Amino acid sequence: MHEYIGAVHIHSRYSDGTGEIADIVRAASDVGLDFIMLSDHNTLRPKKDGHEGWREHVMVLIGYEINDRRDRNHYLAFGLDRTVGVRITAQEYVRRVRERGGVGFIAHPDECRNSMPEHPPYPWDAWDSEDFDGIEIWNHMSEWTEGLTDENKFQRFIHPLKSITAPPEVTLRRWDGIARRRRVTAIGGTDAHAHKADIMGFFDVEVFPYKVMFKCVHTHVLLDEPLRHDDDSAFEEDKWRVYEALRAGRCFIANAYQGDARGFAFYATSAHETLQMGDFAVFPGEGQIALHVQLPREARLRFVCNGEEVKELTTQEHTFSVPHAGAWRVEAWIDDKGWIFSNHIRLGHADGSC
Ligand SMILES: [Zn+2]
Ligand SMILES: [Zn+2]
Repeated sequence: MHEYIGAVHIHSRYSDGTGEIADIVRAASDVGLDFIMLSDHNTLRPKKDGHEGWREHVMVLIGYEINDRRDRNHYLAFGLDRTVGVRITAQEYVRRVRERGGVGFIAHPDECRNSMPEHPPYPWDAWDSEDFDGIEIWNHMSEWTEGLTDENKFQRFIHPLKSITAPPEVTLRRWDGIARRRRVTAIGGTDAHAHKADIMGFFDVEVFPYKVMFKCVHTHVLLDEPLRHDDDSAFEEDKWRVYEALRAGRCFIANAYQGDARGFAFYATSAHETLQMGDFAVFPGEGQIALHVQLPREARLRFVCNGEEVKELTTQEHTFSVPHAGAWRVEAWIDDKGWIFSNHIRLGHADGSC
């Protein structure tokens, strides 16, 4: 498998971010990212203006973030040439993104921040929609603002990566719950804006420059064949291979601030087949299928099935004989910080449920 590391969910000056796309690309290139996925609010203008393509060895992908009339239900939509319409319900735009061949992710579904009046929470409440491909289970900006207090704010502004711990429990439970019915991809987002803020009442600082944000929550995509770097003639095809891998759940989330996650592997083997993240198979019976995990370094490894922890151990590599059906995934932790969150391998019943 060929592994590509990206930052997802980024705002530029085309909406409420403070950076030009060229600056954002440079920051991504400096940090060594393979791809970035921009998602300005309610506009695909940057795509029309020709910003998509290989830039400074970075694959620049452009989608947009949709919201409803109440500014709720933020949805990250990629792979579209034009926006899906305004003044429509979340159910409707989620459906239209799928109908038009796009890939869509629910953004920060359980956001509950209340520390900055100028940044209210934008949670998701359209759970009766079933047409989304995935969920942004980890949003750097949301987590950072949710933990903000008067006491810690100076520290948090100075060290914006240190306070990032893990995706919210409530979102993980929700994601695991949906995965019992069907595949649902998890991605990690930065929600980078490089906001300017007045932190101590007397000076303005750039909160989270893009380059700093790009060192933390990453989404790693796994492809069967390598991308053709810097080859613009192959860009459209390669772009769709990235989108299809995301749709298929062939990806994982890592907090790079805790360590380089490149090389992480999670797959399943039975006598007949090998399954990757995102795959489904009918559970063949106890002892008939094994989960394999390889970590880039030793960490605390948790096996989670249908939202419940089944096993925990400190290791770099482990093989686990699967005792029962379910939507299986793993997490790796370093001390009390989440480092790697895999997507599910679903082992279930003939009807596709787990
Ligand atoms: Zn949003
Ligand atoms: Zn956003």
